[in-house]
Amino acid sequence: MGPSRQQCDKGLKRQWHVLNAAHQASQRQNLSAARQQAMHAPQETSGDHKLHKHISHTITGPGRVAMRTEYFVGPMTTPNVPAVAPGSPLNDNGHNEFNVVDAAYIDYLAETDKGPKKHKRTAGHWNNGYFAHTTLKVLGLRVQLGHPSGECCYNSSTAFYDDFVVLNINGVHEIALDFCACEIAQSPIVQLLHTWWYPSTTVDPRSATTFRLLHHFHILSFESKASTFEYWQTLARLTDNAGDRYEALLRMIKQWRSITLLKRSGYGHDPAGVCAATPGACTVLCPACPQPGKNMLDDWEKALPEVHWKYALFLAIDANFRLARKNVSSDEVDPGLSWGLSYFVEEHEFKSFLNEAGRLPQEKSMYARHSAVNLADTKNARGLAATGVGTVDCARHNLKRPCAVGDLQKGERYINMDYLLFSTLQQTRDIMVLNISYDITCQWSKNLWDRMSRYPSAIHLDLSNKTIVFLIPKFHLPAHIAACQITFSYNLIEGIC
Ligand SMILES: [Zn+2]
Ligand SMILES: [Zn+2]
Ligand SMILES: [Zn+2]
Repeated sequence: MGPSRQQCDKGLKRQWHVLNAAHQASQRQNLSAARQQAMHAPQETSGDHKLHKHISHTITGPGRVAMRTEYFVGPMTTPNVPAVAPGSPLNDNGHNEFNVVDAAYIDYLAETDKGPKKHKRTAGHWNNGYFAHTTLKVLGLRVQLGHPSGECCYNSSTAFYDDFVVLNINGVHEIALDFCACEIAQSPIVQLLHTWWYPSTTVDPRSATTFRLLHHFHILSFESKASTFEYWQTLARLTDNAGDRYEALLRMIKQWRSITLLKRSGYGHDPAGVCAATPGACTVLCPACPQPGKNMLDDWEKALPEVHWKYALFLAIDANFRLARKNVSSDEVDPGLSWGLSYFVEEHEFKSFLNEAGRLPQEKSMYARHSAVNLADTKNARGLAATGVGTVDCARHNLKRPCAVGDLQKGERYINMDYLLFSTLQQTRDIMVLNISYDITCQWSKNLWDRMSRYPSAIHLDLSNKTIVFLIPKFHLPAHIAACQITFSYNLIEGIC
């Protein structure tokens, strides 16, 4: 009779323990050999900076050890020497080749100081049995601006009240900051900008944000629609749940967006400066729509009328009258920075136009289904700065057009939509054939030219050399009467279908 099932199990267990112990012993040996090798290996270099190599390990499962190697890029000084001068070259987006408040470098500073050796993620110190949060300032970090890394300034001036905070994507960092006040020194603001830190104010700044954070949030907000408040809360949570730099961050992000827009539109090096930017100058134009002087033949205007359809511009007008914006601030308190340079119309001109022209009553639609129009004068707009948004798009390629988006105040009024259309058509005056589609074209287009004659001449459209075709989108057409279905159909108009 062979061994019992129980004996078999016991034997296997013992065998497993022996094997596991041997495996762990060999892993430990490998680990210490790797550490030895790392300590004696020559330091790798990257540009002017040495890469400090640091090996840590994490337990990823029972009895298993995984190796992880981290690199910290820092100046060629010993890490716990307090004076650290930033200013190493960063790329266009502020990504770090070296950033003095980079998470990795903070870990490195903390780790080489006096804290426990493993698993630290924020600056801190070991305080009689627990890990206490601390700041880079308390740890002794002094940042000197205006001089190359490692160089001392003999005439430095400390930041206002010796109280400076840097916001980075890994949290909020209190540091000690010295500006250079030597004879040839730049202004403190320029010194900060040279370090790729964006100052919160132009006079005596007490906080700055890294370009890295601003770029990070800029992209994040496009992808996830995260608000500045949510981003600030994240930074606070990553630090100590406290701090009051939300308003400063709001301001810096708003300025960053505006500066980035101007830079990408080529106004960074315009001799006339930002003031040279004209309405709609910062938009991305539709590359497939007719753009005279850009993507059309030189003599396109001489083409025979039979082939003018080739040079037609298709526009789609529409509105979302549920996209409301609450009236929580004002232009005086929170002025916009874009002045109609891109997709939205210039706010002040638009508002004064509405005040002038808006006294005329809205024409009622004969269709009960056109609730947008009929509700225009009755919809409750209390507490709202805008009850919706109107827009004129390029219909064939679905791109927004320059100066073609504006707020709605009461439903979908004709004057708002008229202004948006005439405003965007100022950008393409030369186009001779316009195909304009709108779900309520049959009503809206009826008195359009009458209404235009009452508007300021600056937005008038020169009708002398134009062929204008009004259409109703196919999705909306079945809701109209038979006469509309014939007159405004995409399928029945020459040069379109
Ligand atoms: Zn100096
Ligand atoms: Zn287009
Ligand atoms: Zn109709």
